[in-house]
Amino acid sequence: MVILVTIILFAIALSIFIRHEKKKHAVVSEKVKEAKECGTYEPISLHPYIDPNKCIGSGACVKACHEKDVIGLSNGKGRLINASMCVGHGACALACPVGAITLVFGTAKRGVEIPYVDPYFETNVKGIYIAGELGGMGLIRNSLVQGIQAMNNMAESLKDAGAASAGVYDVLVVGAGPAGIGATLKAMEKKLNYLFIDQDEFGGTVANFPVRKIVMTAPVELPLYGKVQFRETTKETIMELWNKIKQDTGLKINTKEKLTGVETLPDGFKVKTAGGEYTTRKLLLCLGRRGTPRKLGVPGESMPKVSYRLIDPAQHKNEKVIVVGGGDSAVEAAMAIAAEGNEVILSYRKDTFGRIKAGNKTRLDEAVKKGSVKLVLNSNVTEILPKEAKLDVAGAIETVPNDYIYVFAGGELPNAFLKSIGLKIETHYGMPS
Ligand SMILES: Cc1cc2nc3c(=O)[nH]c(=O)nc-3n(C[C@H](O)[C@H](O)[C@H](O)COP(=O)(O)OP(=O)(O)OC[C@H]3O[C@@H](n4cnc5c(N)ncnc54)[C@H](O)[C@@H]3O)c2cc1C
Repeated sequence: MVILVTIILFAIALSIFIRHEKKKHAVVSEKVKEAKECGTYEPISLHPYIDPNKCIGSGACVKACHEKDVIGLSNGKGRLINASMCVGHGACALACPVGAITLVFGTAKRGVEIPYVDPYFETNVKGIYIAGELGGMGLIRNSLVQGIQAMNNMAESLKDAGAASAGVYDVLVVGAGPAGIGATLKAMEKKLNYLFIDQDEFGGTVANFPVRKIVMTAPVELPLYGKVQFRETTKETIMELWNKIKQDTGLKINTKEKLTGVETLPDGFKVKTAGGEYTTRKLLLCLGRRGTPRKLGVPGESMPKVSYRLIDPAQHKNEKVIVVGGGDSAVEAAMAIAAEGNEVILSYRKDTFGRIKAGNKTRLDEAVKKGSVKLVLNSNVTEILPKEAKLDVAGAIETVPNDYIYVFAGGELPNAFLKSIGLKIETHYGMPS
């Protein structure tokens, strides 16, 4: 009797477990299908490779990842869902109890192009170095460490070169994310004559994270500053740290200065930027991999009310906002700003949305029906004025009241620029080495 009851209880527990697993598999399969339909299944950059032979389906990776639906559990194994949403912080790999996860670039089908650098971070063009995510190694701590190491090597190679001529920098660092910050601190410690520029603000990609974003990182020792102990923190704490470092060390940066060209000289480089021309003996590129946001190229676009990223929708209340674009970022931004009680126009140049997530399409349709988002297809912003904007709607110009404009028109990735200055680019095909 006892045996029979035990067998029945075991059979019930097993059938509940199997039903639960089947349900989980169906949910993940549906999410994978949706990700494939809207083009987020294939990874764009760094992402986890889950070795099916090692994975024991603990689910630790799913719990550790703060990004939405990058990994799920299906048939008792970890499975990639929205691989293109992976930001590469590698919390999944650290959490995996059996070491089944490796972070890789590209897949067997789709290669990812990474510039060639030697073990000293020098590219094929002698004197030009690359550090941080641009060279293939993402994450805040890795980028900081690489920037420091690259600058150390640059300083070593300048050791016997004597003093630079007047008006010539020893090193020019481009990109004020963690790699550029680490490198510049090292340049200051080594007493090099440096110039540090960024096309945007100080802080790199972190400065563009949404408000209160959880950031996973690891302790690191910074030149002239000392030990930084963060592990799990927030965007705001990291930005406070960057600003404290700047204040305490006297680090100088030219912001809003984009690198536009590099000419090789016999003993260095002529560097062209949006602000002028400089001569430097060594050049360090810490440009990251996010690229430069594509602009509309219309009059008035340089006004501060125009932005290319949404950091905090709650900063807008009772305002008239235009969001430009036809991708998920534009649709999500339009709905987030509308939810804060603003009048939102979503302007898209085509007559229909191409590849946006099915969920976003449904939510947008509902928002349009409710009247919280006004969708204007076949439209282009043609001019931006202080309190208005002009929209060309299928050939007719309309002037609409406007307080802010968000543009999500994609970005120019750095590889074309790197090739144009002679750097060798290699294609990586995703399997861990
Ligand atoms: C949403 C999101 C979440 C993330 N979460 C984490 C996390 O939790 N933990 C973690 O460790 N990492 C995280 N990362 C990754 C991390 O932000 C990057 O790996 C890291 O910032 C790379 O540092 P970097 O210095 O190489 O480049 P970036 O930080 O990308 O900085 C590059 C800088 O170069 C500038 N630049 C580019 N082109 C030019 C040009 N032509 N002229 C002048 N300046 C130029 C840019 O304006 C930018 O400031 C996340 C990334 C994203 C997108």
